Amino acid sequence: MEGNSWNGKILWVDLTKKTTRIEELLPKVYEDFIGGKGLGTYLLYRELDAGTDPLSSDNILFFMTGPLQGLRAPNVGRWTLVTKSPLTGLYLDTHCGGPLGREIKNAGYDAIAVTGKSEKPVTLIIEDETVRFEDAQSIWGKGTHEATKILHEMTTKGSAVYVIGPAGENLVLTATGCCELAHQTGRGGAGAVLGSKNLKGVIARGTKKIEAADSSAIRQVNKTATKLWNEKTGYGFKEYGTPFLVEISNERGQFPTRNFQNGYFDGYESLTPEEMREWYIGAHLSCPHCIMRCTHAYRTEDPRFPGTEVESTVEYETLGLCGGTLGIKDAQCVFQLNHLCDDLGLDTIGAGSAVGFAMEAFEKGILSEEEIGFPLPFGDCEGAKKLVMMIAQKEGIGEILAQGTRYAAKEIGKGSEVFAVHVKGLEIPAWDPRGKKGMGLSYATGDVGGSHLRGWPQTMDHPDSSTLDVIESMVDQRDIKILRDSLIICHFTYHFPLTHEQNITMLNGASGLNYNKESISIFAQRVETLARLFNIREGVSREDDILPPRLWEAETHGPAKGMKSFIDQDDFERSLDKYYELRGWGKDGVPKEETIKKLGLNTLVS
Ligand code: SF4
Repeated sequence: MEGNSWNGKILWVDLTKKTTRIEELLPKVYEDFIGGKGLGTYLLYRELDAGTDPLSSDNILFFMTGPLQGLRAPNVGRWTLVTKSPLTGLYLDTHCGGPLGREIKNAGYDAIAVTGKSEKPVTLIIEDETVRFEDAQSIWGKGTHEATKILHEMTTKGSAVYVIGPAGENLVLTATGCCELAHQTGRGGAGAVLGSKNLKGVIARGTKKIEAADSSAIRQVNKTATKLWNEKTGYGFKEYGTPFLVEISNERGQFPTRNFQNGYFDGYESLTPEEMREWYIGAHLSCPHCIMRCTHAYRTEDPRFPGTEVESTVEYETLGLCGGTLGIKDAQCVFQLNHLCDDLGLDTIGAGSAVGFAMEAFEKGILSEEEIGFPLPFGDCEGAKKLVMMIAQKEGIGEILAQGTRYAAKEIGKGSEVFAVHVKGLEIPAWDPRGKKGMGLSYATGDVGGSHLRGWPQTMDHPDSSTLDVIESMVDQRDIKILRDSLIICHFTYHFPLTHEQNITMLNGASGLNYNKESISIFAQRVETLARLFNIREGVSREDDILPPRLWEAETHGPAKGMKSFIDQDDFERSLDKYYELRGWGKDGVPKEETIKKLGLNTLVS
């Protein structure tokens, strides 16, 4: 489109027929939905029929960019995948680092929509206006690291590679895809959607130059942000990346321990960056245009090939779900689990949660040694590694755990439902809500289920009093995140800080439009309401906006001792009422007619 940084085009790819077509979206659609999460939500709602099987050829993968990809803006070397989740059966947006978004944009598209199913495994290769379907039979079954290397050798220098591993091919519902070795489309099982389409990966390379309406506005924000970051010293995130959060989270009683039996891990020190220093390699494989470079790598051994040294880019979430949740204090073990998950194409949160669930089932005598194939006490590194490989291959008990913790609890029964820690099927990440007031409401109302990326209340309090007073701040934070996810700016930019106002300034610089805080608040409400309407169409109601029983048990240990996620059920229900009201939804959690009209969604949803 003229005078702004959107290309105005979506590339549609049909894997069944091996055909492509271009769709040109109206400027008003861009104005209303911007890009990334926003535009992806619009496309998913518009295109997908209610009840579509997420693993059928009818599901669609939307590889999204936004108005800032392809421009020199801070921390925008990222992209978004929107689809229907096979893990939850609901709306899914997942945000990934790496240059795929920039290359899609430089190839001349704002998004690539992939539908259908290839008869045989293929890789989709986009080089400017040329689209190829490359036979992928020789790399089907290979891990993400080897497949990435092979695909780089056979494509143009500078191409961005995104691939799935064996878990996605085997339709494991917590499967991810991997972009350039270190970045994952983490949650919700998008990797299995690629697998169901026989799509091993997507590669893009573009040479078009993207122009902003006013590049000086973006340049100025980039300059200020870089200066702020460079001036920071003695700052944990800068020195260590996300692992510095282990100590902070543990001190608040939020570090998941032994399948969320506690939020405080005795012996957590061995999982802190200071203690992991001897294996530290450095910060690399970071997202393009990133001024922070949070991807820190550690040396370890590939457990499948003893003697083979590999790099493990471990994050806080993995230290929580593959460390504390499993009662594992050995950092080397967590590095190995992280490497296994990345290479097999598994979400470290989903896989860690499934293994933690199995460990508790073993501890309680619900799963026996015979049923698992070996003893599986908390803290058992070898057992955890074996089980991760069984999940990826769907072997033995791994077949049940590969369907996610919700399904596993239902299948195994015997009371195990009370320690299956998920919301709407999406496993809870490494922040126990019993250590932070209002966090539980964010999980309960997240459009994708139990995600830590849907806005947290601005408070450091424990949930020892009513949550009602922090809900407005949670809505504000959710709005800020919806804008970031639509511009596809990394959330870690809050560390500079890169402000909400600066993000709006960059959006205006890219688009030539005049958004302000009020219009962005309406935009965020529009996107969340549309995602809600998608989920309602799939059968979601107020009864699904709940927390798992484990998070209603009073914490027995550490700084959050005595805490539940809310003071009581009544406080939770009143908080939910208030949240719905702030969003313009009825007490049943359904958006009101007047809200739908105010947000300009009436034509789309009628
Ligand atoms: S801070 Fe980390 S996740 Fe964010 S853009 Fe940079 S490298 Fe990527």
